[in-house]
Amino acid sequence: MTFRQHVTITTGLLLLVSFFWKNYLGLLLFWLGGIFIDVDHYLDYVKETGDTRISLRRLEDYFYNLKEQKFYCVFHSYELIVLLLFINIFYLKHDYLYGLLAGLAMHIILDALFNPVKIQCYLFLYRLKHAFVFSEFLQQKAGIQYLPTSNGLSED
Ligand SMILES: [Zn+2]
Repeated sequence: MTFRQHVTITTGLLLLVSFFWKNYLGLLLFWLGGIFIDVDHYLDYVKETGDTRISLRRLEDYFYNLKEQKFYCVFHSYELIVLLLFINIFYLKHDYLYGLLAGLAMHIILDALFNPVKIQCYLFLYRLKHAFVFSEFLQQKAGIQYLPTSNGLSED
């Protein structure tokens, strides 16, 4: 999903959730987690290209045209959410952190549903097993084959 789609959906859900959950720090963290989890894409981009200039246009061109070689994206990991959930349940016990975890989980679920990758690629251990090679995670949907090309997605 694009950054703008995440902003739109996360903001919409924030407004909906705010009707019955009045934890304002939790709501803020839900919104921040639901959107800015994508900062790990930027880290992957810098690691691969060496380009440290922040530009949404450059990042979107890189990721939406499937130019990445490795998919680390450490924050896009189901394991991280489960780990943080247990830490919060047994140690930290802050209600507002459930907002952050819900935002992170919602973001990953949306990415898993709408990005052209296998659903299990959001398991960090699965990515590790495949040495983070991005082409291993691409999904072939009916009639459309997602392959890295110079100008975007190819259709077969
Ligand atoms: Zn994402």
